[in-house]
Amino acid sequence: MKRATRILHDPYTPPAGFDAPQPGVYKASTVFFPNTQAMRERNWMDKSGYTYGLHGTPTTFTLEERISNLEGGTYCTLAPSGLAAIVMVDLAFLKAGDHLLLPDNVYGPSLVTAKGLLRDLGVSYSTYDPMQPASLRAALTDKTRLVWLEAPGSVTMEFPPLDELVMIAKEAGVVTALDNTWAAGLALCGFDLGDDGHGNALGVDVVMQALTKYPSGGGDVLMGSIVTRDADLHAQIQRVHMYTGIGVAANDAELLLRSLPSMTVRYQTQFEQALALAQWCENRAEFSAVLYPTLEKSPGHVHWKRLCNGTGAGLFSVLVDARYSAQQVDRFVDALKLFKIGYSWGGPVSLVVPYDLKEMRAKPAWQGTLVRFSLGFEALEDLQADIEQALKTLVSP
Ligand SMILES: *Cc1c(COP(=O)(O)O)cnc(C)c1O
Repeated sequence: MKRATRILHDPYTPPAGFDAPQPGVYKASTVFFPNTQAMRERNWMDKSGYTYGLHGTPTTFTLEERISNLEGGTYCTLAPSGLAAIVMVDLAFLKAGDHLLLPDNVYGPSLVTAKGLLRDLGVSYSTYDPMQPASLRAALTDKTRLVWLEAPGSVTMEFPPLDELVMIAKEAGVVTALDNTWAAGLALCGFDLGDDGHGNALGVDVVMQALTKYPSGGGDVLMGSIVTRDADLHAQIQRVHMYTGIGVAANDAELLLRSLPSMTVRYQTQFEQALALAQWCENRAEFSAVLYPTLEKSPGHVHWKRLCNGTGAGLFSVLVDARYSAQQVDRFVDALKLFKIGYSWGGPVSLVVPYDLKEMRAKPAWQGTLVRFSLGFEALEDLQADIEQALKTLVSP
């Protein structure tokens, strides 16, 4: 055998039994089959073996199992971003003629997909007020096939009565999907929302999470997950994975596996940072409201208290008093030094984004400009001092 052949077909295999804190990283498009029969008999849908890199390697299977565990589910499909996970759920449960329901405070790009891609595919949508269960009941039609839920809502942070909303969707026989990014599988289990008052367990059908946020924790990886307890629902999502070729890369999965073990500590620390800073913001006259469901005055606090286990993400918004113009608010944000201007959250560096509510909600409950803070790991007193010095720009002419 020539050397060119030998370097590819070397008989050496490393000894089995290697064990270390992190699992190995397996990368593949091609995987080898021992013979043609094994190749023909392989079913890519189950995890009893390997078919092709797109459908999983030991690395992605391991991450899927760990995310399933985190969410309290059974089956997991990974997607290359949180948004991709949302769209895969949409495509799994909606076809031409169907109707989709989104909360009015839904993650913005999810609404953009409904207005664009889904409309082009013949799917209609409407929004409901997640704080008013009657609004969901009224919005359901006999064509509704999917209801998205989010707790709390993006940017304005209202924490909805998830259990009541799920009960209404269940009565109508509609699939429910929860965007659980904020609770990160830690503050809330979407599959266990108590019972329906008749002794039956109550939970959503599908739990999606942007792993980009807390599970990654580094501000350096994009990924999403879709978890179910039901094998048939999982099979529908897996089919979308097959139809679209949407999958994740092993190196990204490796980064998630590396950061997942520290997630509970990071989550709790950023929660404590956010709670302390949010309470401080409540006493500042420049802010007319602090939107963080862990605070008593924040919308849906009672639901957060009932459904979450006393913790939450390190992410809150403030409403800047209406006497300040949007330009002044921009100046305040620009004057911040430690809070970096940027989207996403859950990473090590504190972030800030100003939002104009008028552009975002069908019926904004508040007037004025909103500023969202995401807490990193800087010392709290430095972050507080940063906001304090930047607030001076609001009073300067
Ligand atoms: C960030 C986010 C997403 C999307 O995740 P990406 O990985 O950035 O695409 C979806 N839902 C919520 C609530 C988010 O915060």
